[in-house]
Amino acid sequence: MKKKLKDMDFKNKKALVRVDFNVPLKNGEVADDTRIEAALPTIEYLINEKAKVILMSHLGRPGGKVDESLRMDPVAEKLADLLGKPVSKVDDCIGPEVEDAIADMEDGDVLVLENTRFYPGEKANDEDFAKKLAKLADAYVNDAFGAAHRAHASTTGVAKLLPAGAGFLMQQELNALSKATDNPEHPYVAIMGGAKISDKMEAIRSLLNRVDYLLVGGGIANTFLLAKGYDMGDSLVEEDMVELAQDLMEEAKEKGVELVLPIDVVVADEFKEDATHKVVDADKIPAGWQSLDSGGPKTLKKFKEIISKARIISWNGPIGVFEMKEFAKGTNELAKALAEADAVTIIGGGESAAAIKKAGLEDSMTHISTGGGASLDFLAGKNLPGVDALDEVEPTDFEEIDDIEDLE
Ligand code: ADP
Ligand code: MG
Repeated sequence: MKKKLKDMDFKNKKALVRVDFNVPLKNGEVADDTRIEAALPTIEYLINEKAKVILMSHLGRPGGKVDESLRMDPVAEKLADLLGKPVSKVDDCIGPEVEDAIADMEDGDVLVLENTRFYPGEKANDEDFAKKLAKLADAYVNDAFGAAHRAHASTTGVAKLLPAGAGFLMQQELNALSKATDNPEHPYVAIMGGAKISDKMEAIRSLLNRVDYLLVGGGIANTFLLAKGYDMGDSLVEEDMVELAQDLMEEAKEKGVELVLPIDVVVADEFKEDATHKVVDADKIPAGWQSLDSGGPKTLKKFKEIISKARIISWNGPIGVFEMKEFAKGTNELAKALAEADAVTIIGGGESAAAIKKAGLEDSMTHISTGGGASLDFLAGKNLPGVDALDEVEPTDFEEIDDIEDLE
């Protein structure tokens, strides 16, 4: 099993912690602090253990160079608010300026490093860059579940150079998601939505080995419907994915998985909040119209029937353009059905999580993951490089499997 915080000694030590502070910004401020909040248990634990807490994360896609709009300053400010304690910030993540700032830290102090993606070595998992990060600290903690599916310098490179363990959020995510991967109960229903099939193709293929039903909605469903020969009008489709979609439908049949596509959908004459819209059967989308919500009444009835029988449900991606009120119905109804289901419900993906929060149903779900790609890869049975890179420890005889208790 992987090393945890409790297997490590932090007293008077410099702890370099990879967190997932890749938060949405708006007008230079943090627009949603969910991910920062999720990292608090680990940060607070390390403060109490009298570590010097050095936090690093990527933010957005600066492309390996400094991008003034993607500095970590607003994140550090938000963190200070949430912790109720001062947080320092440096304008680099490696080098002498950072080393000096760390030398000035007292036990229990918190320092936020600059965006790791300002260096191309981060994504390239460059060894030299990882060494410069490792040089800053005595121990490494990975609490960035949302970045664990990427083998980058701050997630895997540095883990190999320092004693390395999993933070509370990382542990909690792995425990919760394991409910769907370790001998899951059946029926197991996976719901896939979101904009693009290309992002999720591989995961869908692997999930076909695990699930009994695959409900498909959103932009993804459009490409499947196109592959069935339907005319999709002006809907978002990926023409170059049609063949793959056909293969997946074939594979589902071979594996005895019921792949369910929308039966009726909400179409609009424009991609706009106040566009004219109506419900039509999925094979009768008029020319010039586009499907913006897979949740027509017939689709929802079918989806709900299957959800009510499920023992495990994983959901990744909204089934409509839920950001626009008129096209949020399918996603909202689906969220309600999951909330009422007698099943383990696992939600992954930023937009899906946002949709559930908007519907006020977050407390009715078993687990809402802070990771999109990472949760999808994990559910699909892939190893996560950020987890693999952490140290192994022998479990003690009386070790509690349920790490949720570690949070208390
Ligand atoms: P998640 O973050 O939950 O994994 P994705 O990022 O894959 O989800 O996709 C979310 C986006 O998909 C949403 O912003 C939503 O507007 C969009 N979407 C859903 N259905 C459609 C559709 N029919 N046409 C266009 N976009 C869609
Ligand atoms: Mg998304």
